[in-house]
Amino acid sequence: MSPCPFCRCDQVYLAEVEDGMLTVACPSCSMSGPVSVDGDPEEARRGWEILCSRMCSHCRKNIIKHFTGRIRELKAEVALLKREAPPEVGSGGAEE
Ligand SMILES: [Zn+2]
Repeated sequence: MSPCPFCRCDQVYLAEVEDGMLTVACPSCSMSGPVSVDGDPEEARRGWEILCSRMCSHCRKNIIKHFTGRIRELKAEVALLKREAPPEVGSGGAEE
């Protein structure tokens, strides 16, 4: 199973929540994944994996890298557009 999305601990384990409901839990930070109400370990594991792929720190870093890169590009584009924009000309629509 994937390590804990918060603390990267890889000792995560299947844990019973109550009445046979299962979840995946982290022993270090006590983070836990979505609960399988049916007590299905596969479902609990799947929930954990989804959680991890959404939140694990290396994914977050990639997303942040992606967006900071994109923001830089956009800023450069805006700067370019400002430079290229023709100086404001009077609308020339004075009717008289
Ligand atoms: Zn943890």
